[in-house]
Amino acid sequence: MVVNTETLHTSIRRSYANTSPCDFHSRYLRLLRQADSPPYPLQNDGITHGKEGLYLTTDLCPSSKKGFEKRLYEAIIRRFPHPVPVTLFITKRWIDRHPTAFETLRQWNKIGSLAVTWGNHTAAHHYHPGKALAKNFVLSPEEKLSSDILTLEKALLERGVTPSIFFRFPGLVSDEKAVHTVTRLGLIPIGTDAWLAKGQRPKEGSIILVHGNKNEPKGITIFLRLLKEGKIPRLRPISGISAK
Ligand SMILES: [Zn+2]
Repeated sequence: MVVNTETLHTSIRRSYANTSPCDFHSRYLRLLRQADSPPYPLQNDGITHGKEGLYLTTDLCPSSKKGFEKRLYEAIIRRFPHPVPVTLFITKRWIDRHPTAFETLRQWNKIGSLAVTWGNHTAAHHYHPGKALAKNFVLSPEEKLSSDILTLEKALLERGVTPSIFFRFPGLVSDEKAVHTVTRLGLIPIGTDAWLAKGQRPKEGSIILVHGNKNEPKGITIFLRLLKEGKIPRLRPISGISAK
């Protein structure tokens, strides 16, 4: 798997012919350094906003809910010119339980209705209700973060999908060690400054967070209302985000 260090697009190659080591000043390494630098907040570490435009990220954490938020994806497909850029922070446990929904998203991407950035949200997405954040999500005692990340990448590759270099911490919870583990794998953690269901509203440059798995319908309802009110004039691909 290789990354274009200026467009940040990934692709699969049979060999490393025509590839070269990263330039220190490339967009990719600048973003990676920004993402890897202190402080390391327990919540919402990583890149939380861009310079301009709006970025839609939809998390697909494990869920026992049937189906997915089709109304969201159908609404953006109706509203914006194709392909519509959207980031899916996906987990293997969600894919395993929702093969039909996954296939629908894959097809929308394939036929050019959506331009999906397949973001990594770990395979397992450990979560212990009621437990302190410092011992929860990727900070849970059983977490093996590198293999949890790579297992998701393999699951995508096995299904004909190319993983991106973008990563979101489950629960947006991390510590310094976890951040280094992610960036050492070449991935850039993405936070949010507009988690709609938590009452945050998008402004210029915002990374919007909603859940595509039906676990947080409130956020989707708010997004659809903003869309109707013309407050989401267009969406940008997360690969267009710039370093500070
Ligand atoms: Zn999640």
